[in-house]
Amino acid sequence: MKLDALTTEMVPLAGVLTAVAFRRSSRAAKISLRIDPGFDGILITLPIRVSRRAGLSLLSQHEQWAADKLAALPRPLRFAAGVAVPVGGVAHVIEPVPAGRGGAWIEPGRILVTGGEEFLARRVADCLKRLARQRLTAIAAEKAVEAGAKIHAVRIKDTRTRWGSCAPDGTLAFCWRLICAPDFVQDYVVAHEVAHLRHMNHGRHFWALTERLTPHRETASAWLTGNGLELLRLG
Ligand SMILES: [Zn+2]
Repeated sequence: MKLDALTTEMVPLAGVLTAVAFRRSSRAAKISLRIDPGFDGILITLPIRVSRRAGLSLLSQHEQWAADKLAALPRPLRFAAGVAVPVGGVAHVIEPVPAGRGGAWIEPGRILVTGGEEFLARRVADCLKRLARQRLTAIAAEKAVEAGAKIHAVRIKDTRTRWGSCAPDGTLAFCWRLICAPDFVQDYVVAHEVAHLRHMNHGRHFWALTERLTPHRETASAWLTGNGLELLRLG
C-alpha cells in the first residue's frame, strides 16, 4: 500500500507510538479498523461524512486488541544481501553481483542481483513480480482450458486483503507475493479464481469446479491462514 495516498498520524497505542492511516471510502457504511502488515500500523477506513476523530475514538475502544495484533505480526523480512527469500516455498538466498548486468534473476537456491546496493530490494521485488506474472499466467491458462472458461487478462498487483480476484469481464488479478508461497498454494488460488470465471459466487457449483481444478483446497487454505501474513511482511 502506498502511504502517500493517505493521511497518517502517530497515535499512542497502549503506550507505543503507532502509525495510523486514514482512508475515505464512498462504499464504506461504517468505520472499519484494520491492522496493516505492510506498514506496521492501523488503517482506519472512514465513510464520507465521518470525522477522523470518530475513527480515533473507535480505535481507542479497541486499543488493546489493536496493540496485541500489531505485536503478533511476524517480523518483516527485508530484501537484502544474504537474506533467504522463499520462492515457491523454497529458500533462495539473495546474492549481490555488483559488477554484473541484467537486473536480477533466479537460480536454484539463489536470487542474483546486479548493480548498486541501493537498487537491490527493488530489483529483487521486480524479479519476483516478473516470475509471478509468468507462472500464475501459465497456471491460469491451463486451468481455464480445463474449466472451459476464457481469461480476458491476468494482472499482478500488491493487494493486501486478497490473494486473487476475478472481475466480471474475465480479468484475473493475483498478489505477486503468492510466488513466494509453495506451489500447491499457488495452484489453489489460481484454480479458485479461474472457477469464478464460470461461477461468480461461492455456491455449490463453484466449489465443485474448484475441486475439479485443484486437489489442494483444504491444505492451501490452511497454509494461507497460518502463513499468509508472512508473505505480506516480505520486501
Ligand atoms: Zn472466491
